Amino acid sequence: MIRIFTDPACLGHQAPPGYPERPERLSGVLTHLRERGWPFASGERPSPEAAREAVAALPDERYVARFERAAGRGDSLLGSADSPLSGGTWEAAWAAAGAALAAADWVAAGSGDNGGRAALAAVRPPGHHAERAAAMGFCFFNNAAVAAERLRRRHGASRVAVFDFDVHHGNGTQHLFEERADVFYASTHQYPFYPGTGAADERGTGGGEGFTLNVPLPAGTGDERYGEAIRERVLPALRRFAPDVLILSAGFDAWQHDPLGGMRVTEEGFRSWGDWLRGLAAEVCGGRVLALLEGGYDLRSLPRLVEAHLEGLAGGKP
Ligand SMILES: [Zn+2]
Repeated sequence: MIRIFTDPACLGHQAPPGYPERPERLSGVLTHLRERGWPFASGERPSPEAAREAVAALPDERYVARFERAAGRGDSLLGSADSPLSGGTWEAAWAAAGAALAAADWVAAGSGDNGGRAALAAVRPPGHHAERAAAMGFCFFNNAAVAAERLRRRHGASRVAVFDFDVHHGNGTQHLFEERADVFYASTHQYPFYPGTGAADERGTGGGEGFTLNVPLPAGTGDERYGEAIRERVLPALRRFAPDVLILSAGFDAWQHDPLGGMRVTEEGFRSWGDWLRGLAAEVCGGRVLALLEGGYDLRSLPRLVEAHLEGLAGGKP
């Protein structure tokens, strides 16, 4: 069973002209998925208080307060040029985190007995670059980290794995969990590249050593080499860790024509990754998979790339 979670407020975060992370990314995906009959979740959102509590479990509260003040004053940036603010940004950041939380709650109720539950939180702004006390790289709240923490604290998940296949390394998610052994972070990404982190020797620190897996890949990597990296490095590590829930930081900017990335992944590539991850989730975690939209900046292709990945995750068309 698969459901799409979203929130119209995610579209209210506007960006300067020509900026790649813009509302049309998400509106195009939503229109396409609706036209193609993918099932959307209805209703049920965590209350604003519950969302605030869940989000505040991760970032520095002073960062949340600084963000709120900057939004209230009508500032045009939060910290740096890659975190532009508009009138709808504060609400959009909460809507994205709220939809991720609602999707996490829904997925947590799935099990092998009921065929498992997979969800896509189709949201923006994305999250994986957001640090504990800083917005970064189009990201304000780390949606994947917020969902992981929710699954740990509220749903009794003892282990959560995040696999981040966005073309950029998820510095924020890695940093939030690198000292912990209960949340495994794995990433395939272009390297060297923005944001500069994600070298193979970054494997976690202290008690979290060995619970971070970085698979840096050179520019120009296509389906074959990506497939090897995922099948031979990422999937075995996820299988060994045996999470209770699998979270995907699903960025589609490794697409061969993405304007920001330099990789050569095809639509078929994203479909097969979904297929493999569905198999892994069925094997280790009762089919519980939560995919969160991160990057992907080719407006024309993003809707069908997302759909191809969903077909893999769902094991077919809706
Ligand atoms: Zn990216």
